[in-house]
Amino acid sequence: MALLLDGKKVAQKIKNQLKDEIKKYTSKGLRNPSLAVVLVGNDPASEVYVRNKRKACEEVGINSIYIHLKEEIPEEELLKYIERLNKDDEVDGILVQLPLPKHINTQNIITAIDPHKDVDGFHPENIGKLATGMKDCIIPCTPLGIWILLKEYEIQTYKKDVVMVGASNIVGKPMSLLLLRNEEATVTVCHRNTKDLAHHTRQADILIVAVGKPHLITEDMVKEGAVVVDVGINRLENGKLVGDTDFEALLNKVSAITPVPGGVGPMTVASLLVNTVSIYRQKHGFEKHPLTDI
Ligand code: NAP
Repeated sequence: MALLLDGKKVAQKIKNQLKDEIKKYTSKGLRNPSLAVVLVGNDPASEVYVRNKRKACEEVGINSIYIHLKEEIPEEELLKYIERLNKDDEVDGILVQLPLPKHINTQNIITAIDPHKDVDGFHPENIGKLATGMKDCIIPCTPLGIWILLKEYEIQTYKKDVVMVGASNIVGKPMSLLLLRNEEATVTVCHRNTKDLAHHTRQADILIVAVGKPHLITEDMVKEGAVVVDVGINRLENGKLVGDTDFEALLNKVSAITPVPGGVGPMTVASLLVNTVSIYRQKHGFEKHPLTDI
């Protein structure tokens, strides 16, 4: 039976540590860290994500500033909000919840965020620094969360064959870049046009899947004893939340696996808090947060 990589438990441990850390700062007279969360429109899934992120902020003592804007807001107006937040010294991190409405150019918005406040790590400057191994970058939250989770369970990436399925800017690409830092792992990235997906996934010591298709990865597609990280979040017609892998079938074949829910999701939120505190620390003359020191 596979070991369950319990993201919920590890995330809670991180949140407890952050809460204690923030208390130390405020007891010295420093202000609380702060995160501006911008939501455009009323997408129900985005509303849930934003609510969870804000709740997590509250739990640890991060002040969350919520800016909820109308779906039809013109791009120039949204850019003005970003500009204001960039200039506001009391704002440490800025998060714009994705996806944005179709009339807004997402890349324009991401690029407008001050790279030092880009808590999601999506700004080209941060991605470029991640790619070139520069230490002063902000690492995107889901890859950072997966990294921390693997390390917490002492799962080594060094000299391992890692297969990343999915090549999005949010998960797949930055995850592969993170694994390539310090020439840790040998990384294969698979995507929609990969000729024989199963051929690659079967080679993986560590298989990370971020596609958004339930049961994409079946039992015959994984190697015996592999570690599987399932990033996917899919709502089935019966209301059940599942990942991208055939979780039940994989349980008896792999050595470790993340559940959905309760795996990568809570780690993504915990990493958002870590990134916010890390930005805050550097603003106040401290080192970046050790969990981000990769
Ligand atoms: P995305 O932007 O839609 O990217 C999915 C990637 O998978 C794309 O590169 C896509 O290629 C590729 N793909 C599509 N079909 C494929 C196939 N049959 N085989 C291999 N690759 C295929 O999604 P995302 O933002 O990365 O998110 C992926 C999943 O993770 C979603 O379910 C999302 O909800 C979930 N997610 C979870 C967390 C968390 O914290 N747990 C965080 C972020 C995302 P094309 O671009 O060509 O379609």
